[in-house]
Amino acid sequence: MATPATGDAIAHVHNDCGSRERLWLPRDHSSTATTARHPFCIECGTVKNLTMPHAKPLGYYLDGLANLKESLEHSAGHEKLVQVHSHLIAQRLRTRREFEDPYGTPGNVQLATYVSTVLAIRPDLDEELILRMLPDRRRRRRPASSQKSNEQFAAAHPRN
Ligand SMILES: [Zn+2]
Repeated sequence: MATPATGDAIAHVHNDCGSRERLWLPRDHSSTATTARHPFCIECGTVKNLTMPHAKPLGYYLDGLANLKESLEHSAGHEKLVQVHSHLIAQRLRTRREFEDPYGTPGNVQLATYVSTVLAIRPDLDEELILRMLPDRRRRRRPASSQKSNEQFAAAHPRN
């Protein structure tokens, strides 16, 4: 597990290597059956993470936090997410390297970090609710014609 980053912020925008220099690596760290050509950053050597779901910028998780706050305003079963709590959660997320550098981070690692950060402040909430409030997980509709978005939907809902 990555340790919280303090002061070692990424100082550059990652710069992909040329397509011929890409590295053959397992597509997913849990399975070595399929490989894919991975770009890496020619400045720092970080390999781009290609696993699904893709990592998102911090703003995605902050949107999810705002959705969660809004949903708890109208929830009979849970206490509201008070301002001081949402501030504290956002502040903690900002110190995590997982969100600072989506380039080399698997989306699953971000999701786990996000959930544990929210639960550290609000242990009464459940993981399912926290994840459901993330932006693209609220949508129930999906374009029927797009194979790619079907794959994304499947990756976002591994239990189905
Ligand atoms: Zn880099």
